[in-house]
Amino acid sequence: MSRYLGRFAPSPTGDLHQGSLVAALASFLDARHHGGSWTLRFDDIDPPRQEAGSIESITEALLRHGLIADGPAQFQSNHSTRHIEALDRLCDHGVTFVCRCTRATLGANGACIDDCDDQSHSEGSIRLQSPEGAFPDFVDICSQQRTSPATYPANFVIRRRDGLLAYQLATAVDDALDGFTHVVRGGDLQASTHRQLYIQQLLSLESPQYGHIRIIKDHHGNKLSKQTGAEPISATDPIANIRSALAQLNQQTPPSSCQSISTLLTWAIANWDRVSAKL
Ligand code: GLU
Repeated sequence: MSRYLGRFAPSPTGDLHQGSLVAALASFLDARHHGGSWTLRFDDIDPPRQEAGSIESITEALLRHGLIADGPAQFQSNHSTRHIEALDRLCDHGVTFVCRCTRATLGANGACIDDCDDQSHSEGSIRLQSPEGAFPDFVDICSQQRTSPATYPANFVIRRRDGLLAYQLATAVDDALDGFTHVVRGGDLQASTHRQLYIQQLLSLESPQYGHIRIIKDHHGNKLSKQTGAEPISATDPIANIRSALAQLNQQTPPSSCQSISTLLTWAIANWDRVSAKL
């Protein structure tokens, strides 16, 4: 088996909920099943959305569920120098522009359709042009299907109007420069994968392989997330939480003899089937 470096990259915007436990578990099991390492990285580059105490509470919840990372946690906020260098390189390529649109004036897919090409105007967001056909396809390691972008924005934000670096840029750069070889994450991020591959290609960075798992929904059919009111994961029964997460990932039911977190995870690692977990 070739080298496998995987990661789970939560944003510290609240406690771990069942949807984020499922994402953490999928990336953990995929890494361990393939003899790989697994890193925890906090995507903490959006201070306005960050919630105090969530780094500690997510770390503790992962430990309680036996999801123990290799090495210390990484923090995207420590990488601002490389993020800004990447931004500067993209700007030097002539593939960016400053946009002064408001949400109301943006077109389909949140793209700027105005004539925002005044490079001298520094107020505004910085957008990356993505001409038709620019987003690379990829073969999803979970579905094992070649995946093309479902929608095609003409451009997207890489530095926000408030000066903060956008998730797409920071994640594309960190995943590549930290040498992650496999990224297994929620299917809601599939559209982001095409953008991140495009950024990595423009910067001549090596891309990981990507896999997307089923989206966990609440009983209203909304993706489980803090925004849709997902409850923090219960601290009282981690074994039941892992069993539910395995069912949500469409895995086989572990035998009732798995009565501890450690026996349960050992069984789940051995029996992990990424194709069943596919989006
Ligand atoms: N930090 C982001 C999130 O929690 C993205 C994670 C990723 O790229 O895997 O949704």
